[in-house]
Amino acid sequence: MFQKILIANRGEVALRIHRACREMGIRTVAVHSEADANAMHVRLADEAVCIGPARSTDSYLNKSAIISAALITGADAIHPGYGFLSENADFAEMVEEHGITFIGPTAEQMRLMGDKITARQAAIKAGLPVTPGSPALESVEHAIEWAHKIGYPVIVKAKDGGGGKGMKTAFNDEEMREAFTMAKAEAKASFPSDVVYMEKYLQKPRHIEMQVLADKYGHVVHLGERDCSIQRKNQKVIEESPSPALNAQQRKEIGETVRKAIEQIGYTNAGTLEFLYEDGKFYFLEMNTRLQVEHPITEAVSGIDIVREQIRIASGAELGYTQDDITFSGHAIECRINAENPETFTPCPGKVTEWHAPGGLGIRVDSEIYSGYSIPPFYDSMIAKLIVSGKTRNAALMRLRRALEEFVIEGVPNTIPLHQEIISQAEFIDGQYNIHWLENYMKNHQK
Ligand code: ADP
Repeated sequence: MFQKILIANRGEVALRIHRACREMGIRTVAVHSEADANAMHVRLADEAVCIGPARSTDSYLNKSAIISAALITGADAIHPGYGFLSENADFAEMVEEHGITFIGPTAEQMRLMGDKITARQAAIKAGLPVTPGSPALESVEHAIEWAHKIGYPVIVKAKDGGGGKGMKTAFNDEEMREAFTMAKAEAKASFPSDVVYMEKYLQKPRHIEMQVLADKYGHVVHLGERDCSIQRKNQKVIEESPSPALNAQQRKEIGETVRKAIEQIGYTNAGTLEFLYEDGKFYFLEMNTRLQVEHPITEAVSGIDIVREQIRIASGAELGYTQDDITFSGHAIECRINAENPETFTPCPGKVTEWHAPGGLGIRVDSEIYSGYSIPPFYDSMIAKLIVSGKTRNAALMRLRRALEEFVIEGVPNTIPLHQEIISQAEFIDGQYNIHWLENYMKNHQK
């Protein structure tokens, strides 16, 4: 087992990884930008190394600074968390070349599954259902030709896309001209490649994803699904597990399909297969070859510590259990709380003057915030994840309502009021929502 792990991230996920390491008796190294010298992950880690100025490109994305920090401190593994370098195959390769273990899949697996076009091909080969789609699009004319083959509406996507960026829908040729140009421009600005392709655009799907764990010896398990349909601008706001839309038989079927596909692809470590789900059918969207923000709801219903498993798998341990050993109990919901204006969603960094997180049975708060902490303006605006669990969905909902009421965050506007509003709507309470529900709701209730 590793003696010392460097955590190549910041915020709540850096803390999350630190906690798993501590419980495994592993020492931790925090890395931080100049803006994060007072961050909680820096305070808690055994050692900390400043890796550069505030801007992410100069610090959390600075591969050689991070690898140097690992070499200087003698870390034997690096956990990338999510975001930043977590899906960067070149980084994973560099880490391994320096004799340090990258906690995640191999660079080759990341390349295959991180590129949306090759991932779709691998998914089809492994027996996963996908939406009708095109190859890489060469020109507007080529795009229009494919749109006619697939049938409008379609969605143009960047092959390296992420975070909801570089995606544009088109309902006719005229819209397609604009969608193609805009998606390409957005991809060029945000991703390594500006290659785009298209998929059939589903009009009322749910977003349902499956968590998997796979060791280096071909053992694969799935940890059930997460329903992440409450979204704004293609970004998740609330997630829950299990999905109110699936019954036990459907869960078993998709679980088994996914497990077999991962076995065939030969993927290792933790990963998530994202699907759209409409009219009883699943369509593979993409695979995230890393830990996800919403992993705690799966931990709550499966009892499995996913970060611990990532570390064990990377160290060469066997899973040590099979699918039959995994049981699910209860229901869990996560709210992503952002330092943002809850109506306009403009990020609102600043000083948190009062902070009181809710507690009690079935409550978990993953956050780096403390009273007096100043949220720097350079990074993501998520400041806390509130995860509640209960025996039933209704019990979890009642608990969530109570926990949101108890939560005190002063000094910065935040999205707690938005969460309170969402969870009091009949459609949410009944579990009757799709990926467009939140945006439609907000359009109809503009203040
Ligand atoms: P990213 O990698 O940027 O997160 P994804 O491919 O995972 O992009 O898609 C993110 C979200 O965009 C989905 O959860 C869904 O809301 C929407 N979306 C993506 N593809 C489609 C599609 N074919 N039809 C309808 N909505 C889609």
